[in-house]
Amino acid sequence: MDCPICGEKNTKEFDRYSAERITNCYVNKRFKERYNQLLEHLGTFYPNGVCTRRQCSSCSFLYASPFKAGDSIFYKLAYEDRDFYPQEKWEYDFALSFLEKQNRTDLKVLEIGAGNGAFVRKILTRFAKKEDIFATDFSLGAISKLKELGINAYNEDIRNLFPTSLKDIKFNLICLFQSLEHMDGVVDFVKSLSSHLASNGRMIITVPNDKHIDFNESNHALMDLPPNHVSRWNVQSFIALCKQTELELEISEISNESFLSKTKLYLLYCYLKKAEEFGSFPHQIEQYKKVFRFIFKRLYIAFLGLIHIKSVFKLLNPELGETLFVVLKKS
Ligand SMILES: [Zn+2]
Repeated sequence: MDCPICGEKNTKEFDRYSAERITNCYVNKRFKERYNQLLEHLGTFYPNGVCTRRQCSSCSFLYASPFKAGDSIFYKLAYEDRDFYPQEKWEYDFALSFLEKQNRTDLKVLEIGAGNGAFVRKILTRFAKKEDIFATDFSLGAISKLKELGINAYNEDIRNLFPTSLKDIKFNLICLFQSLEHMDGVVDFVKSLSSHLASNGRMIITVPNDKHIDFNESNHALMDLPPNHVSRWNVQSFIALCKQTELELEISEISNESFLSKTKLYLLYCYLKKAEEFGSFPHQIEQYKKVFRFIFKRLYIAFLGLIHIKSVFKLLNPELGETLFVVLKKS
């Protein structure tokens, strides 16, 4: 399969996973019914029973082949029992400092996948009026939170809204925080976003930093598997994306979380990876009652800190920030 961003034919296999191996990473085999449902569902994603991850030799974009993003059935089956949502504090703060430099209070803003409105709250009245803020999310709970803020909230795919409700609107700012890596068909998608940007409009996009993901995968932490994340981005791949659209890369920045914060997240990911193994101690801890789970989970995470101490020190490298932040500008 050619590179989905730049079309380069010279791509090489990065690694490959059977549908069963992928299923193991999302649902524990002890939930037999859900496990089998997910395995069967992933069979429709990977007709040969295998998903390959490939990397482009030109723009270094890494992508799942077949390049097919998770759908609502996948997310329902895969994430039913997870209660961990990372905070996006750094990227929101960085976005706000960028907006402050723009010195405008009349922006027309679209946020895709706005969640419960954590970012919308920060820009409301300061940079945009509530009637000029538009947001989408797939969760109905999120939509009711967004509507409480008085903004325009839609429980629909943005691709359906552009030809209808948002037809004649041009935005000054479109935000996608940690969303692009979940999507297929990205070039066409970003082209359609770009066509709804006003001249000099900006797109703020954040994705996981590819070096940080590489670090996790090669240091005992969670794997970054499709069809949740179907792509891995770096600055080169964004430059290639810009060449396919009417955008230019204005800013790129790697997040600079504290060493302590990176260590905590890394060790949590190591714990979750271990908990995927049937019969492992973390796997058993996850079945304890709440108080015991709280205590033993923290003790085990401290233990992981000791046995992975060498990996922990690698996190001092500033290139291992968790997030890549880019601003794409319409010329
Ligand atoms: Zn490429």
